[in-house]
Amino acid sequence: MQLEVLPLESPKPRPDESNLTFGKQFTDRMFVMDYLTGQGWHNPRIQPYQPFVLDPAAMVLHYAQEIFEGMKAFRRPDGKIALFRPMDNFQRMNCGARRMCMPEIDETFMLSALKELIRLEGDWVPRAEGTSLYIRPAMIATESMLGVRPADQYLFFIILCPVGAYYKGGLAPVKIWISDHYVRAAHGGTGEVKTGGNYAASLYAAREAAAKGYDQVLWLDAREKRHVEEVGSMNMCFIYDGKLVTSPLHGTILDGITRRSVLALARGMGVAVEEQALTVDEIFEGVESGRLSEAFGTGTAVVISPVGQFTYQDKTVVIGDGKTTGPLTQRLYDTLTGIQYGRQPDVHGWVELL
Ligand SMILES: *Cc1c(COP(=O)(O)O)cnc(C)c1O
Repeated sequence: MQLEVLPLESPKPRPDESNLTFGKQFTDRMFVMDYLTGQGWHNPRIQPYQPFVLDPAAMVLHYAQEIFEGMKAFRRPDGKIALFRPMDNFQRMNCGARRMCMPEIDETFMLSALKELIRLEGDWVPRAEGTSLYIRPAMIATESMLGVRPADQYLFFIILCPVGAYYKGGLAPVKIWISDHYVRAAHGGTGEVKTGGNYAASLYAAREAAAKGYDQVLWLDAREKRHVEEVGSMNMCFIYDGKLVTSPLHGTILDGITRRSVLALARGMGVAVEEQALTVDEIFEGVESGRLSEAFGTGTAVVISPVGQFTYQDKTVVIGDGKTTGPLTQRLYDTLTGIQYGRQPDVHGWVELL
């Protein structure tokens, strides 16, 4: 496939780097390609950022046949731009494509097209401390047909937005509400796929938690409603008896690339890693006895989000003073962001320079 680059007539003004909001401002260009059964992927192009024309019967609008990804590009002190584990994202997207009966993409081609897009949009990768360029690949079913079956026509696209530091004043622990009613994913479902429907289904509980003053929902397993699954759209990690404990990937949990990275970094620091789901009782007893010393969520957008307290039904436990980031949480955050921004050596080969 030959990547076509279409001309850009009117570049937008650059946003103020000290005041970037997540996911609101998009760059000048986007990557787009089309799929048709029988023809495969075709017409890959980098074109001006613009709205799509979709038929009202486009299948994605009715049956949510959709998958997406999230990754980042970082500006390094020497001015160079680095991607973080981008092949992992394209491979994960293909796992999702198979589950959602969507066509797979050529990962190697997509990496080179993404690099070309970011080279052209290089000036949009912000320079201020803690900022980055958020990358959102997505695939949607565009065939117009009101019928529940895999579509014959798809659109794949990548849009980019410069984003600010998530925590402007350093890491800040959040308050978590453990849902005893709503669940995010069940065995046999689509919990391990980044597909839009999972997020639509999570909104109600998130709104309820926000109304009660909590920052995020912690999801429990659908079967027994006892075991920790994820928190918001992040993987959940605990420091328990000095070990890093996180739920195993058994189909209902998203295989986060930040999770993978944090587990590898912890092992490298000599911290034992246990992939085992803690129960709500273990969280409460662990905090009270001091065995559970730190807790944090992981995801590309926030990197690491420390947890200050958990509430389940009418009980709350506070970790430490509820306001201080734990030492291992901070060290993992500093190491991971150090690798991403090129302040620390990339011994794992995670960084892909443009
Ligand atoms: C994207 C996502 C994560 C985090 O994955 P990363 O690859 O680390 O960004 C975790 N859980 C859910 C539900 C997600 O959608």
